[in-house]
Amino acid sequence: MRNHIVGCPHCGRQVLDHMTECPHCGGELKPSGYRPMDAKKLKIVKAVCYSVGAAVAVGLAVFLLFFRK
Ligand SMILES: [Zn+2]
Repeated sequence: MRNHIVGCPHCGRQVLDHMTECPHCGGELKPSGYRPMDAKKLKIVKAVCYSVGAAVAVGLAVFLLFFRK
């Protein structure tokens, strides 16, 4: 993983783009949205995985029920 270095809009020094506060001047920073987006994506991916997993489990159960008849 690489660090994303951006310039602080308040003091112009280098900060990481996921920081919400400049470590040099204490100014408020706007994170470029990588983390919130990742968290959202992760949630969606997890939800999709659970849905697919549940669908596969139900399908398998139904298949086994019919297979055993
Ligand atoms: Zn700063």
